[in-house]
Amino acid sequence: MTRSPVNFHNNGEVHETTLINPTSGLAFSTVTSLDLAECDAAIDRASAAFPAWRAVAPSDRAKLLRRFADLVDEHLEELALLEVQNAGHTIGNARWEAGNVRDLLEYCAGGIERLTGLQIPVAGGMDVTFHEPLGVVGIIVPWNFPMPIAAWGFAPALAAGNTVVLKPAELTPLTAIRLGELGREAGLPSGVFQVLPGEGPVVGHRFVTNEKVAKVCFTGSTRVGTALMAACAPQVKRVTLELGGKSANIVFADSDLERAASTAPSGVFDNAGQDCCARSRILVEASVYDEFLEHFCTAVAKVVVGDPALGETEMGPLISAAHLQRVASFVDGTCEVLFQGEVPNGQGFFFPPTVLLADSPASRVVTEEIFGPVVVVQRFNNEAEAIQLANATNYGLSGSIWTNNLGRGLRVARAVEAGNLSVNSHSSVRYSTPFGGMKQSGLGRELGPDAIRAFTETKNVFFATE
Ligand code: NAD
Repeated sequence: MTRSPVNFHNNGEVHETTLINPTSGLAFSTVTSLDLAECDAAIDRASAAFPAWRAVAPSDRAKLLRRFADLVDEHLEELALLEVQNAGHTIGNARWEAGNVRDLLEYCAGGIERLTGLQIPVAGGMDVTFHEPLGVVGIIVPWNFPMPIAAWGFAPALAAGNTVVLKPAELTPLTAIRLGELGREAGLPSGVFQVLPGEGPVVGHRFVTNEKVAKVCFTGSTRVGTALMAACAPQVKRVTLELGGKSANIVFADSDLERAASTAPSGVFDNAGQDCCARSRILVEASVYDEFLEHFCTAVAKVVVGDPALGETEMGPLISAAHLQRVASFVDGTCEVLFQGEVPNGQGFFFPPTVLLADSPASRVVTEEIFGPVVVVQRFNNEAEAIQLANATNYGLSGSIWTNNLGRGLRVARAVEAGNLSVNSHSSVRYSTPFGGMKQSGLGRELGPDAIRAFTETKNVFFATE
């Protein structure tokens, strides 16, 4: 089956990407990639649709987004199964991800009529602020969470009155294409929300160079993100960056150690570790190091790795053969492997949950984002050293702190340089709370109460009364 996005017909050379099911390793579909001319034509359509879309009454725009949310809900199982097939996500995760799209659409719909400005006391008149939409917003999505990350961009951008062009990752375009179709079915006018499958350096880069795109919202690697930010500079193009991570899970001796150990696998192996928030470094206080490792390895051994379509599966395959090879390269014998789980036989891109013991803080497994089910354990002697180790990275996205000492939990949470932390939990993503990275993990925030404002420009207007 070849999927083409709505409204597109390739006249010249047709570029097709073959999609591989990561669980079986077998091809199951192809998708047509857009060329530059088609991308520009879509941006022209988005630009032409903007004046009418921003003029839609707030309550009507909210109704359209609610209808879109309802359609996502009605197609939740279809979307989830598509993600299991295309990205190898476990069915439980994929259902949550489609539900996250629905919930965020609802949340943003609720924000449209609350996008209020200020009235500021001034002499000689009245001063008010407006949150103006930007115009066309380009959203670039990675392959690891194709549905939620697409929605974290398009839902607030549409709510604010922008039109959207969205480029899914080459490997995982199917759910985004389907969401584009559902948006049209919900009644979004033509040109308001278009999904443009294509290559990063072609379609993604065009969002940067085309002057009709006012903002680029990029989620992906720090390598591509930094180059993209530099390329946005000549136009002073607005940019949000959500980049990589190497987050720490800090376990203090005064925590509920069994709980810290039994939950640690989910903090790092969820989505087979292909999670920008993965707690891929576990820092353990020296006095409980051995005890923690014993409980932790018992918990890792229980992680159910297998067919992601089965309800009981907790960890599926990696996204591609190339990524499998990259992840495997980190387990090269230079670090002690404390424990390694099992994977199913066959052609799928599975890698076992793997626990490494850090030999040195400079080791590649400690400093680089592996983006697979590989965790490295380090030991610390006191609170100051725990904070120092947690911050010894250019990344700053996420992390967890396990302690039953309230004061310590607060002190360490304030001291760790990361945008999203959890104390006695590994939960860092909710549609209603802000999400984003410090340092080289990103720029700007998504989700939460200010999500819509990130897609607006504040305008100040003074009315003279004298
Ligand atoms: P990637 O940077 O290779 O690609 C991300 C997207 O950018 C893809 O759609 C790709 O086609 C596009 N792209 C590639 N080159 C481009 C270019 N020159 N111009 C414009 N677009 C281009 O990243 P990936 O491998 O797909 O995703 C994994 C990375 O994403 C990891 O580093 C992960 O940590 C990060 N990530 C971050 C967050 C976050 O919220 N901070 C969330 C998920 C993933």
